[in-house]
Amino acid sequence: VILVGDRKDSATYVRNKKKACESVGIKSLEVRLAEDCSEEQVLKSISCFNDDPSIHGILVQLPLPSHMDEQNILNAVSIEKDVDGFHPLNIGRLAMRGREPLFVPCTPKGCIELLHRYNVEIKGKRAVVIGRSNIVGMPAALLLQREDATVSIIHSRTKNPEEITREADIIIAAVGKPNMVRGSWIKPGAVIIDVGINPVDDPNAPRGYRLVGDVCYEEACQIASAITPVPGGVGPMTIAMLLSNTLISAKRIHNFE
Ligand code: NAP
Repeated sequence: VILVGDRKDSATYVRNKKKACESVGIKSLEVRLAEDCSEEQVLKSISCFNDDPSIHGILVQLPLPSHMDEQNILNAVSIEKDVDGFHPLNIGRLAMRGREPLFVPCTPKGCIELLHRYNVEIKGKRAVVIGRSNIVGMPAALLLQREDATVSIIHSRTKNPEEITREADIIIAAVGKPNMVRGSWIKPGAVIIDVGINPVDDPNAPRGYRLVGDVCYEEACQIASAITPVPGGVGPMTIAMLLSNTLISAKRIHNFE
């Protein structure tokens, strides 16, 4: 893991990922760089990990400080060790029929894994993905399409999000807006994956805030047939998929079937 700067949320994510590695016996190394370090320093750390045969997965914790070119940095990660799945070659392969990415981005992969584990049929279903970011919405929509769903994508310029979402058998919400999806947006029996993690003020909570998703859980759980909770749900799945991608990588590097 390469962690640049001292964002508290990033430090927490990295700590959780390291703990998860320990719990399954994956060794993890962390390089911490200062907020004002140069892009070259980050690239140098990536290059060391690329060249080290004992490393099977490299993760650059995002977001990077604004003076850095994120694209440049993500491109530098060896595609064989890109366990986050953000390298453009991996995303390109994900988008093309008949091509296989070496790694699928962890959060969207976790969403699909949840649907599989709970025997939710995807083939032929109407799916709506709310959000089109490179790390969640866009790859989630590509994955659903690979699984033969008919997919609509909603973004900030979509005119009638409520109407479109109401047609969905499967909803993946990855917006970053607390409780945006209300009960009235949901078709009875729909399955909802809520990716959003949004802090909202709560004077009664020990830290003065609590985390909620992009979907109004209290309303949605009356109408949907299944919904993931926040916190819980997609968050821990993302970490599990990171471990899964790392194992896939180690097996591939060692030609282990
Ligand atoms: P992001 O990069 O900010 O993207 C948000 C997306 O939502 C954009 O595509 C944006 O549209 C769209 N959007 C914004 N406002 C909207 C509106 N009013 N109506 C419809 N669409 C709207 O966010 P992200 O990185 O994808 O993250 C989304 C959420 O998931 C955040 O809460 C984040 O904390 C959470 N997250 C959770 C995990 C996890 O492991 N559980 C992992 C990653 C992210 P435009 O493209 O038009 O701007």
